[in-house]
Amino acid sequence: MLTAETIAVTNIDNSELTCAKCNAACCQLEVMLITDTGVPEQYIDRDQWGGETMKKLDDGWCICVDRETKLCTIYENRPWVCRIFEMGSYECSDEFIAVNQ
Ligand code: SF4
Ligand code: SF4
Repeated sequence: MLTAETIAVTNIDNSELTCAKCNAACCQLEVMLITDTGVPEQYIDRDQWGGETMKKLDDGWCICVDRETKLCTIYENRPWVCRIFEMGSYECSDEFIAVNQ
């Protein structure tokens, strides 16, 4: 079945789809904190119901992206959602295209 995701994947050369060639596209998504991985308190936003997400800055990226290197500055303690976001997945492809092209 042709879906938006498959269209996105076919529009990009898979050899281009690597984090090294990306602009930390997925780090512009809302990142929910589901488990405690040791994210420092100052990087966490809480809503009125106690829901936790990574803080974002006005440029749209997660507060923990190094703005020069576009690498994660809390890699060892990054949230679960960041750990399971798979390079080369449909979701990755969508974000890669949205930010880099
Ligand atoms: S969007 Fe994909 S290629 Fe870009 S940083 Fe995230 S996982 Fe890597
Ligand atoms: S915690 Fe790290 S990997 Fe996760 S969105 Fe922020 S900068 Fe990206």
